[in-house]
Parts: sequence; C-alpha cells; structure tokens
Amino acid sequence: MPTYEYRCKDCGNVFDRVEHLAEHAEAHPICPKCQSKQVEPVPTAFYAKTARKS
Ligand SMILES: [Zn+2]
Repeated sequence: MPTYEYRCKDCGNVFDRVEHLAEHAEAHPICPKCQSKQVEPVPTAFYAKTARKS
C-alpha cells in the first residue's frame, strides 16, 4: 500500500497516511495536530521512485 504525505495549511504539520488508491481519491484527512481540515497532499520522493520502477 502506498504512503501519502500530507501537509496542514493551518499549522504546517506534515504527516503520513497509508491509503489504497481508491481510498486516497476519496480521502479527506484531518491534521492530527490541530484537527484542521485544511490539509493538502504532498508529492513524495518515495512515491515518485516507486512509480518510475522499470
Ligand atoms: Zn494542523
């Protein structure tokens, strides 16, 4: 399962979530630090590396 990284726009906290692809499309995570819903996904190096695997 891929790990997605999120960043909270309110407090700047960065956290990881493990999600299925389908789950990720519908996911609305909240910041574990301040409970804000203003959270955006961060493209990670880990994700790019696995996607480019040949
Ligand atoms: Zn936050």
